[in-house]
Amino acid sequence: MKKKTTKKTSPTSSIIVFFIICGALMAIWEHFSAIIIFLLALAIVAGVIYLTYILSHKNKANHSAPPPPNNDETDYLTLEVQFDQKKPTVHVKASTETKDDDLEIEFVRLSTSGDDNVCPMCAQFEGKTFRVADAPPTPLCPSCACAYNYYFKNDLPASTIISCKEDFFFPAKCTATFFKHQRAVYQEKNIIEQIRMCEEDIEKLPEFMAPYLSAGFPAPAALVCRDLLPDLYMRLGEWDHAEEAIQKCIDAKAYSPDDGSAELKAFISYKRISTEALSYIQQNPGCLQRNIYKAFPYEGMEREQLKYFLRYSQQVRKIKHGNTNELYPSVPLPKITVISKKELKH
Ligand SMILES: [Zn+2]
Ligand SMILES: [Zn+2]
Repeated sequence: MKKKTTKKTSPTSSIIVFFIICGALMAIWEHFSAIIIFLLALAIVAGVIYLTYILSHKNKANHSAPPPPNNDETDYLTLEVQFDQKKPTVHVKASTETKDDDLEIEFVRLSTSGDDNVCPMCAQFEGKTFRVADAPPTPLCPSCACAYNYYFKNDLPASTIISCKEDFFFPAKCTATFFKHQRAVYQEKNIIEQIRMCEEDIEKLPEFMAPYLSAGFPAPAALVCRDLLPDLYMRLGEWDHAEEAIQKCIDAKAYSPDDGSAELKAFISYKRISTEALSYIQQNPGCLQRNIYKAFPYEGMEREQLKYFLRYSQQVRKIKHGNTNELYPSVPLPKITVISKKELKH
């Protein structure tokens, strides 16, 4: 809704102008005392104007009527909306305390972010209108950017079709937690706290995935417990936990439409490369990072995994050495299989 600001030329301002002109004339033609009289008169008028303004402003605040309902469908009221984990709650921003039956929110219409990457869970609700009680609770997915438009009673265009909630796949209740963690985990610096949040999600993963599977939707493109948890464990060299996390995602079909076998394969490869590299570092403490690539002349994905290990693993301690690093095993040392340099070359 647009606010109209109107400027009125009040009669009081005309009076001021009149006084100023009179004062100026008096000052010119009379003497000093005339200027004093003029200034006093001006002060009195200013006081009266100020009081009038204050009183009229108070009256406006008490008696301004809410705007009439508008049938233009693009002209909905802007509301502040907060979500609990079940249903949207509405706080109507009104300048008046009086409540009118006409102001009762009855319908909501959902709009997605509108870009091409909107997931199918959100996309199914785009532009659909529901009764408030039937509306899908947002967030609808871990990366949800959807918003509700709220409509007052009698404010919807006559042609609006009211959707039936049975015709849609509603996200699981735990989606709100997934949404919260999706950002929080990446912002968190403490790896143990990151793991805790991801573990909380992964326990709920089957429940979270259920509506996706019923609907035949692919798993969300971003899902922090699936995308990061195995990796966090791998940084710590917690191989069993990492594998378990991947397995839980596979069981919950969180890689769908893929089956997770690629992730499992990458994990096995990463674990082997990390174990070999760490073993080398333990046998050659202080060895230079750039020489590791000579000792392990991997290519393609394996080389990337070795790079990743040297960059992120908490099993390795680095000390700056020129434009490379000296590498040491972190203490306490994890149990690993020692592989000799000779064996590696085969
Ligand atoms: Zn979505
Ligand atoms: Zn959404």
